Amino acid sequence: MTISETEPIPGATTEDDVVTCPVHPKEAATLRCNRCGRPMCTKCAVRTPVGYRCRECVRQQQDKFFDAQFFDYIIAGVVSLVVSFFGAFVLARFGFGFFTIFIAFFVSSAVGGAIGALVRTLTRKRRGRYTGLVVALGVVLGALPALLVNPLTTLIFIFLATGTATAQFGLRLSLNQ
Ligand SMILES: [Zn+2]
Ligand SMILES: [Zn+2]
Repeated sequence: MTISETEPIPGATTEDDVVTCPVHPKEAATLRCNRCGRPMCTKCAVRTPVGYRCRECVRQQQDKFFDAQFFDYIIAGVVSLVVSFFGAFVLARFGFGFFTIFIAFFVSSAVGGAIGALVRTLTRKRRGRYTGLVVALGVVLGALPALLVNPLTTLIFIFLATGTATAQFGLRLSLNQ
């Protein structure tokens, strides 16, 4: 049976046949990048849907995928900050009643969705590695002043609007890089 070069080969290294990782000389290179073929250790390997790859190859692939320009981040930040500021303030005026919670849920999701859609349109749907992060920061910072007026609606707003606004930008993806 032959072992494919793109598959991990656990225990395949022996005393006289140890390939060490070029980045971590103390680690055995038990894996191989399935794109460029370089040997690597488990610390260096990135598990992708198409197999194990080295960090350089993953980054190169992402650079092709993410085509946002610097100005896009400014748009994303300003739009989410301003819309969130006004959205949270308007919502804060609804008081503390029972129905306020329902209104807060509805308005927060709607405003968050609108922020996401607006940022996407204004940046012409270019993909940014940090767009989700910038939008999240903008929404949270923009809503903070409203905490002084109405902590209840503002906290609901911060959680819901951040979630819906960043949903289409893959916040988790950008945080992981
Ligand atoms: Zn590679
Ligand atoms: Zn390594």
